[in-house]
Amino acid sequence: MSKLRPTALLQAFMTASSAFIRVGGRGGAALRTPSTLRMAQVDTGGLGAPDICVLGGGFGGVYTALGLSKLDWGDSPRPRITLVDQQDRFVFLPMLYEVTTGTASCWEVAPQFEEVLAGSGIEFVQGTVAGLDTESRLVRVTGATPGEERSLPYDACVLALGAEAKPNSVPGAAEHARRFYTLDDALALRRELQALRAQRRSGMVRVAVVGSGYVGTELSANLASWLGPNELMVTLVGSSDSIVHDGLPFSRGVAKEELDARGIELVLDTKVSQVDATGLTLQPAGDASPYRLEADLVVWTAGTRPAAVACDASLPVAEDGRLAIEPTLAVRGSPRLFALGDMAACVDGPGGVARSPSTAQAAMQQADYAAWNVRAALRGDEALLPYRYANLGEMLSLGDAAGSVSSLGLINLKGPLASAARRAIYAARMPTPQIAARVGLSWGLDTVLSAVRRATKDDGKK
Ligand SMILES: Cc1cc2nc3c(=O)[nH]c(=O)nc-3n(C[C@H](O)[C@H](O)[C@H](O)COP(=O)(O)OP(=O)(O)OC[C@H]3O[C@@H](n4cnc5c(N)ncnc54)[C@H](O)[C@@H]3O)c2cc1C
Repeated sequence: MSKLRPTALLQAFMTASSAFIRVGGRGGAALRTPSTLRMAQVDTGGLGAPDICVLGGGFGGVYTALGLSKLDWGDSPRPRITLVDQQDRFVFLPMLYEVTTGTASCWEVAPQFEEVLAGSGIEFVQGTVAGLDTESRLVRVTGATPGEERSLPYDACVLALGAEAKPNSVPGAAEHARRFYTLDDALALRRELQALRAQRRSGMVRVAVVGSGYVGTELSANLASWLGPNELMVTLVGSSDSIVHDGLPFSRGVAKEELDARGIELVLDTKVSQVDATGLTLQPAGDASPYRLEADLVVWTAGTRPAAVACDASLPVAEDGRLAIEPTLAVRGSPRLFALGDMAACVDGPGGVARSPSTAQAAMQQADYAAWNVRAALRGDEALLPYRYANLGEMLSLGDAAGSVSSLGLINLKGPLASAARRAIYAARMPTPQIAARVGLSWGLDTVLSAVRRATKDDGKK
């Protein structure tokens, strides 16, 4: 049953096509100040209301901006906070599988910034961050129309532009493999699978998912759960020797059980050497010869790189291409510039060498530190805090009423309970209490209805 709402999609399209919308805040629709005036602006030195630009409205950016808006600024003037994103909505990426399978709606997984920021005083600018001028403290933002460009001034700036799917160097992959990283990717995959099903009314659709990490494994299980073994044959291809290689042993075990139960073929220790219109060429590790895997659809989930602005020549980058930052999340050498999330090489704690993972969980924790440290940097009256990562565990989505939750070595859940717990936790982590309540209610009802459906089906079988 599809829960995708055509009206929501239409609305998203209409909003996305009008670049540079601005909602919330004090100013209304017009951009605040012409760039020429801004060029002359000096550091407010705490005398006027400071400008804070938060670039990127994903997990790192939205929670930093909301955190900043809730902090007590004491006697200091409250800052003007501007959030910039190229899209018109916040996307809860861990729920993208459910968008593809139709078990969650766009409004649940991707609320519009207008709603997320309502009442917060934060202004929203829709546009693409094209670069930074750290000398004059200006952010260059371009719009959808060629030549449309603005400069936003800042006294402090937070970079949270995330990562993107890495361009694929495997021959044929760029032309013939789908990516699965954004809301558009998830919706496009749904449309393509539906079209393939319609074309092959009697036969099976063959899908090859490349990448046996979290995303590839979860996506395979969700697709198989959605369409079932009579309609879909999924092959999961990975170059490592196990699925969910970086995951906890419990999650890996549950995922393997689920993939086996759903009849998903696993091809591990194998690299893809070519993709074409009818499938892939696979090269197993060792001396084995390459062979072909026929597929109607190839979905590539492996490989990401930090958002392009991280390569801005004026900003320091770490070995892995992410921004080099201090434990306080300040960009090295730029005390008014902070970075977090997937684009920043965050270390864990003072003098720590451990890399904080590139996850929503880590980005949300970093957001608390970023908000606090931005205020400390602007007011200059308190110490900046070194970020500490608290690993709370992990949750996997493995299809309808299937999943795994593993937390702190104490809680290990699987099956419908894990699936319901995951949704409850994600609903609670939505950006505002209003969205959390609405999404929680909707998912709670879905869970009950789906349990009733399963019970009725089981009774029917007896
Ligand atoms: C399918 C999938 C499943 C995942 N599942 C999990 C999970 O179960 N648990 C978990 O903890 N993590 C999960 N992750 C990882 C997690 O979503 C990321 O680590 C997290 O989103 C990083 O937050 P961020 O703020 O750095 O980036 P994002 O959340 O990606 O936000 C970046 C934002 O910047 C915007 N942006 C990018 N470039 C520009 C530009 N030039 N101009 C303007 N705006 C721009 C984007 O539109 C986006 O809104 C998953 C990721 C994916 C793709």
